[in-house]
Amino acid sequence: MQRCEICEANAVTVRWYEEKFAYGSGDDQVLLSAVVPVYECGECGEMHTGHEAEELRHEAVCRHLGRLTPHEIKAIRESYHLTQEKFADVSGFGVASIKRWELGNQIQGESANNLLLLLRMPHNLRLVQEANKKEAFQPTFRTKLSESTRQRSLVFKLRAPVTFEKAA
Ligand SMILES: [Zn+2]
Repeated sequence: MQRCEICEANAVTVRWYEEKFAYGSGDDQVLLSAVVPVYECGECGEMHTGHEAEELRHEAVCRHLGRLTPHEIKAIRESYHLTQEKFADVSGFGVASIKRWELGNQIQGESANNLLLLLRMPHNLRLVQEANKKEAFQPTFRTKLSESTRQRSLVFKLRAPVTFEKAA
């Protein structure tokens, strides 16, 4: 059991509660729910939620809006083994935006969300990189190419300049 910050008794237990909370304002306001961990002291009765609850509420809002959650965005980026800076470079998003989305400090807009969904597919990421002539993305090969093979393919490209034949 954890220690209570109020009465200092080692009597804090965690229980999961379904929490309802209002989201939005005016006619758009909806009641959302999230199942969150609540810390409860068996000695003094003090109850509080922590950062986990904050994240779970945020995820509920994302789901309500049909947007990817912070974890899902991070998972897309990490599936390509890209840093936030590199992902910003490839996608055209600002690195500050990516940080805010992944931390749950801000929810991405609809168009950004659509692009993120498309970038989930490696084929689309390559298309975007090719269109922007960004540094070639190195996919993780199932069979690792040896360094010498990689070097040979580079040399081959350099030695094969594009030539144009005159039309007959
Ligand atoms: Zn207590």
